[in-house]
Amino acid sequence: MISGNWTVVRELLWSGMSKQEQRIDGKASRDIRGKMVLLGTGTSVGVPCLGCECDVCTGGHPRNQRTRTSAILGLPEGNLLIDTSPDLRTQLLREKIAIAHAVIYTHEHADHLHGLDDVRLFPFILGHAIPLYAAQGVEDRIRRVFDYAFSGREHTHPGAVPQLELRHLEEKPFRVLGADVIPVPLVHGPNCRVLGFRFGNVAYCTDTNRIEQESMNLLRGLDVLILDSLRMRPHPTHLSVPEALDIVEELQPKRTYLIHLSHELDYTTFHRELPDNVHLAYDGLEIHLT
Ligand SMILES: [Zn+2]
Ligand SMILES: [Zn+2]
Ligand SMILES: [Zn+2]
Repeated sequence: MISGNWTVVRELLWSGMSKQEQRIDGKASRDIRGKMVLLGTGTSVGVPCLGCECDVCTGGHPRNQRTRTSAILGLPEGNLLIDTSPDLRTQLLREKIAIAHAVIYTHEHADHLHGLDDVRLFPFILGHAIPLYAAQGVEDRIRRVFDYAFSGREHTHPGAVPQLELRHLEEKPFRVLGADVIPVPLVHGPNCRVLGFRFGNVAYCTDTNRIEQESMNLLRGLDVLILDSLRMRPHPTHLSVPEALDIVEELQPKRTYLIHLSHELDYTTFHRELPDNVHLAYDGLEIHLT
């Protein structure tokens, strides 16, 4: 269950804050407490795909504009970003969200990690390094790809490199920003393990082609399931729509939103073909945390 008293937390969080923090709290940053906002719902190359002339890519329908998959949650003690997509800056500008208080990673693939440098501004507002919750494989990749953030070399000016604090993420429940999180291990092809996350009765499971029984048991009784579903045809590392619907059939969540969508799924036609309680997600979709 999501717990915590926002009024008390706000006083704690914002007491003694600078002008910039007040501005972030009051005006520049939208209040998303109690909600998950889907920042991106597209597959790794995004939709439209560069150079593609299909109807989805050229049609311009707003719900077929899919940035790389990620989300942000308004938790009792701040905003928790799930992954740092290469589109992070434009996603946060679009949603008028100016601050994340922590990041939690699903896995280390480029479409989920390489926007990390965009968090550089947040430590100025927070007054400390931004916590990154990452499993060992993700941490290893972060230390390699973003080696400049860990070099220990004197920097030319404040903000030259992101101030990052890695926190080890294990496959067991923990608390972050005043909320309980249950990591849900997922299979993502033969070479990659992914963590889904359950917050109360809402679960976020991206980048998977198979969910083992032990993890399925962590996903029962959901109000909302957010689930990978790339396209109709099978794929070696992602669920197809029929495979995703089999999981929905077994878990029976009240509602399901499909994410990590390719250009083969046209919002304007395909959403009518899904069962009543299953929907194609779209960038900017908001889900109430329960
Ligand atoms: Zn991905
Ligand atoms: Zn296309
Ligand atoms: Zn992936």
